[in-house]
Amino acid sequence: MDEQTPEQTLCPACHVVVRPGDYFCFNCGKNLHPAPPSMAISTLLGFFFGSLVLPPMGIIWGFRYMGSNDVKAKIFGFSLIFLTIADLTVKSYNMINDQIQQQLPNIQGL
Ligand SMILES: [Zn+2]
Repeated sequence: MDEQTPEQTLCPACHVVVRPGDYFCFNCGKNLHPAPPSMAISTLLGFFFGSLVLPPMGIIWGFRYMGSNDVKAKIFGFSLIFLTIADLTVKSYNMINDQIQQQLPNIQGL
């Protein structure tokens, strides 16, 4: 059993041993620790409204935040995904409702 010691980190791309603090693999240049997502209020608000305007993006941004080690970023990421799904659910419900409203006169007019 050659279990990794906690100090050893392997590059996910070329599997060379890198130092845990390294941001890039010295061998292949892979980004080992993507920069933590910004927690500035303006950025968070931008993502918040962005996920309402561009629904699928909220899920992508949300997962990026959830991948962070910061608990607040994780919570924000979860909120973005939840918001996006809730928003999509409401929109599709409204769309179905509109369809029913449009079809209703036809059905009643029989
Ligand atoms: Zn590498």
